[in-house]
Amino acid sequence: LYDDFYVKSLIRTVEDWPKPGISFRDITPIFSDPKGMRMVVDAYVHRYIDSDISHIACIDARGFLIASVLAYELRKPLILVRKKGKLPGKTISQSYALEYGEAELEIQEGSVHEGAQVLLFDDLIATGGTLFAAMSLLKQQGANIKEVAAIIDLPDLGGSQKIQASETPVFALCAYE
Ligand code: IMP
Repeated sequence: LYDDFYVKSLIRTVEDWPKPGISFRDITPIFSDPKGMRMVVDAYVHRYIDSDISHIACIDARGFLIASVLAYELRKPLILVRKKGKLPGKTISQSYALEYGEAELEIQEGSVHEGAQVLLFDDLIATGGTLFAAMSLLKQQGANIKEVAAIIDLPDLGGSQKIQASETPVFALCAYE
């Protein structure tokens, strides 16, 4: 069963990283704790096992780690949304503003078909800029975003609210106010 207290005990806060003034939520202890990893993955398996999602898309790089296990468990195709310059062949790209800095995401052309029902996964929602860029890439290929899922939401930064306001459901396992 999902235990919020246990999962939060595995999320480490690193002050002033990667820049002064940022409180970085570090989820790497979840990956090194088999019980925590299983608890997190199982929470998503439980939520999506009976849903009609057709694909799982995930964002470079921590999004890959949970979403790939979820795709294996749910037997769904996995789509990688990668940072610029990582994917071979024809790609489409979208630049966006980060909580700190600027970046560009890409997917391969034809990685998702018209009408696909996509679950989009990332580790954390801050301003939502990353997820909006990924949503835009998937929608440009004709996909519908069934839901956006993350481990952590930072509601004070407004991203999850903005995504919900764009008519896309958001599910986060835990939040830090
Ligand atoms: P957003 O685009 O502002 O919502 O930022 C979310 C993206 O930045 C995600 O891809 C996260 O991996 C990364 N990110 C931002 N802040 C944190 C943090 O505190 N911990 C881990 N990742 C973060």
